[in-house]
Amino acid sequence: MRNVKYARCVKCGRQYDATPNLTTCACGGILDIVYDYDYIKANLTKEKLKTRPHTMWRYRELLPVEEDTPDTPLRVGWSPLYEADRLGELLGVKKLWLKDDGQNPTASLKDRASAMAVAKAKEAGAKIIACSSTGNAASSLAGNAAAAGLRTFIFVPERAPKGKVAQLMTFGANVISVQGNYEETFELSKAAIDKWGWYNRNAAINPYLSEGKKTVSLEIAEQLDWKMPDYLAISVGDGCTIAGVWKGLKDLYAIGFIDKLPRLISAQAEGCHPVNRAIAENKPWEPMEENTLADSIAVGVPRNADKALAAIRESNGVVVNVTDDEIMAAQKLLGTTCGVFGEPAGVTGTAGLKKLCEQGVIGRDDTAVSVVTGNGLKDVANAIRFCGEPMKLPNDLDALVAEIGRRGLKTE
Ligand SMILES: *Cc1c(COP(=O)(O)O)cnc(C)c1O
Ligand SMILES: [Zn+2]
Repeated sequence: MRNVKYARCVKCGRQYDATPNLTTCACGGILDIVYDYDYIKANLTKEKLKTRPHTMWRYRELLPVEEDTPDTPLRVGWSPLYEADRLGELLGVKKLWLKDDGQNPTASLKDRASAMAVAKAKEAGAKIIACSSTGNAASSLAGNAAAAGLRTFIFVPERAPKGKVAQLMTFGANVISVQGNYEETFELSKAAIDKWGWYNRNAAINPYLSEGKKTVSLEIAEQLDWKMPDYLAISVGDGCTIAGVWKGLKDLYAIGFIDKLPRLISAQAEGCHPVNRAIAENKPWEPMEENTLADSIAVGVPRNADKALAAIRESNGVVVNVTDDEIMAAQKLLGTTCGVFGEPAGVTGTAGLKKLCEQGVIGRDDTAVSVVTGNGLKDVANAIRFCGEPMKLPNDLDALVAEIGRRGLKTE
């Protein structure tokens, strides 16, 4: 890889050759991929990008793959960035955009990391990839691997929503539903990966994954014609996404594609916010219980806390915790004002942004992008619980007229 110099431990600084099956440093620290920005500057221009395919692989020079590694088969990335004027007005910001990453092939932002895992597993010559996941990393890995002809072993906690499990079974993964929480699920996957030597797609352990995830911020920048907003809101679980988002922004800044870095908004659930608590109290992070229905961010032991905390601090970021009711209210608000259906964790960034607007932290002069990280169809049970049931009527126009009258609905 001519664009990559090496991998460096974020804890002790030790450097490693960027081989395809890198995991963590001998000291236990997470590795970060270090690029040769001079090489990238000389080889990538904004003009060149205009001719590239509309997938995450359009940013090859900024990604840690060999020049001859093929693009992965599914169309990952280039999700729409919507101008959400009506919602922006309701929240009270100058301008708001929504990046709908629920429109990826397996319906979450995790496809970006899983496509990268598949590309690197191919480079490593692996036949089987494994991971533990709250659900989306699992289904995205199963789908992207199936498309590329690789097999998967997937570990999910028993509470994973049915929609995600259905995806796993459909994609033909070997699925282990672990009787325990995410922490215990992770530990079993780790033991199994050690035993059988499968390619490791565990969040944070594999340093290439957040490089895949960073393509979401590369796209946001390009879709905004390289003019960055004041804030970028994202929901946080393990912390790989927010760390990746920040890495992408710093890459673009380093090669001179953008001249401003947005402040990150780290949104977590009130019932599980170890990353935000560490920032708010300016202390090292500590484990928390996993008390939220936003299953994808119910992460009591964040695997990438070091990178996430650094990203939030470096960006002069803002942390915000939202209750499950606030999350579900944001789901409905996004649905009614934007026609976008996000899963609970997918709308937590927007819920956080709304709360910060109400608190006056963000206001009339500010611009923001909120990333919807996963599709609402993944978890229909909670959506129906909070958004209610339809009118249930027989095939009878009089009954319909009466019901519409009773509800006071406008018919014109
Ligand atoms: C995984 C996930 C997140 C959080 O990403 P982390 O890297 O774990 O912080 C947010 N939303 C959705 C829908 C996810 O699947
Ligand atoms: Zn180290």
